[in-house]
Amino acid sequence: MESAISELKGLLGEQGWVAGTDMASYSIDWRATYSGVPLLVTRPANVAEVVAIVNICRRAGIAIVSQGGNTGLSGGAAPYTDRPNIIVSTTRMRAILDVSPDSFSITAEAGVTIQEIQEAAMAVDREFGVDWGARGTATVGGAVSTDAGGINVLRSGTMRDQVLGLEVVLPDGQVWDGLRSLRKDASGYGLKHLFVGAEGTLGLVTKVVLKLEPLRSERQSFLAAIADFDRVPELYSLAQAHFQQSLAAFELIPELGIRLVCKKYPSVSRPMSTIANWYVLGQLAANGPLVEPMGEFLTSAAELGLISDGVVAQTGAQEANLWSLRDELPPDRVFDQIGVKFDIAVPTSQVPAYHREIVALASRLDPDLIVYAFGHLGDGNLHLYMMLDPDTNTQPASDLASVGTAMDPEPMNTVLKQAIVDGVDACTWKFGGTISAEHGVGQELRDRMAGQKSTVELELLAKVKQAIDPDGLFNPNRGAHGSIL
Ligand SMILES: Cc1cc2nc3c(=O)[nH]c(=O)nc-3n(C[C@H](O)[C@H](O)[C@H](O)COP(=O)(O)OP(=O)(O)OC[C@H]3O[C@@H](n4cnc5c(N)ncnc54)[C@H](O)[C@@H]3O)c2cc1C
Repeated sequence: MESAISELKGLLGEQGWVAGTDMASYSIDWRATYSGVPLLVTRPANVAEVVAIVNICRRAGIAIVSQGGNTGLSGGAAPYTDRPNIIVSTTRMRAILDVSPDSFSITAEAGVTIQEIQEAAMAVDREFGVDWGARGTATVGGAVSTDAGGINVLRSGTMRDQVLGLEVVLPDGQVWDGLRSLRKDASGYGLKHLFVGAEGTLGLVTKVVLKLEPLRSERQSFLAAIADFDRVPELYSLAQAHFQQSLAAFELIPELGIRLVCKKYPSVSRPMSTIANWYVLGQLAANGPLVEPMGEFLTSAAELGLISDGVVAQTGAQEANLWSLRDELPPDRVFDQIGVKFDIAVPTSQVPAYHREIVALASRLDPDLIVYAFGHLGDGNLHLYMMLDPDTNTQPASDLASVGTAMDPEPMNTVLKQAIVDGVDACTWKFGGTISAEHGVGQELRDRMAGQKSTVELELLAKVKQAIDPDGLFNPNRGAHGSIL
């Protein structure tokens, strides 16, 4: 083992590895939930170095954890505590290799961030289809490997829909060069899709070819106060009918979130004086005027009793304010606790009924439980949290408007935690949903996949893993197949 580590250090040179206490930031995940102890953090500069790392580790039986920006929310990029392992960080593989406005494609190394892709696309009058709050740190390699989604999925699809080609270093040290920029290729299995959402369990993605879209010159957002949460699917259908391809985002925001964000971040201001339990933040992107269709939509929605008020961002500052509000909603930004986290998706039409059942579940389990939900309403994807309100015993779980401001950490006992997990998972499956909409499986959901997938499906996944990584060295025991291996 020691000789393998010396060999790695010699191979990579001083820039290419990190050891000892300098590994701290690589060894713990974004939420500080998962951590481990790698033998070394390697930082290869190119695919040849990745191949050499894989070969050395394979011979020594050292597990390999791929890591990009380390913003993942399921613990997939954290090192292990129970087996010899190294991290392969892509943070030095940062080149944009080609931007082709005519092919509507961009080719980049795995460590390029989503924001860098967006900026490179804009520079040639194109745009990249997906976006989310961690854009400045999340890498294309990590985003492909988690099949990330974000705020524009209803228009452009997830990362899977952006990937035209990949280059991957396989666990046996071979390189699969699938760096094609074709829109069509019916020549066999869609191998690239195996690596999308694989969370580093099948190979290390070193380069990616991504789709670009025509640049929409106009972009404008609105915030609407929802009059009747049960009729949210009608509101979404109305928005799709009005805006069609111009509708880029349709996000759910709770009043509690607005209150907490505005209190904690004075630079963010409340966009409207009307108070409702829920709001929808919509964004349009097109090459024509947007204000008029947006006004017509808000008027129709109000006439139908779907919204009680609405504002349109009239300036760049107002637009930025609306999206700061959205970006700061995650509980780690506004609470002193996270509670129990879920990233669920159900059919969009089922969101109100699903949420009602979740609130009822919370009330049954403990009257002090708060349900905090926000997210990608147009995709039926809620980021859902259940946490204890330490302030009071008098507030029912459904009464979001009465909850206090930032809360003290309140340790939740493991029995309650387990009951929450079991209850929410069962409810999600009852509604035909998934417990991993866009954050992957990682360590967090591995053991819960048996409730979501049939034995046939889990066995198929395990066979794929076995065929490509028979020694189980790439992110072992993580991902859906890990529940039966
Ligand atoms: C504030 C915030 C907001 C977020 N919002 C969203 C959102 O709206 N939608 C969404 O989908 N996600 C969201 N995320 C989650 C996260 O940004 C995404 O999962 C992102 O794709 C992870 O990219 P990364 O480079 O940080 O990957 P990492 O966290 O480093 O890794 C994630 C997984 O991919 C694997 N991996 C990383 N790089 C490679 C590679 N080159 N080859 C093979 N495997 C690799 C890792 O082993 C791990 O399993 C958010 C995260 C934060 C912190």
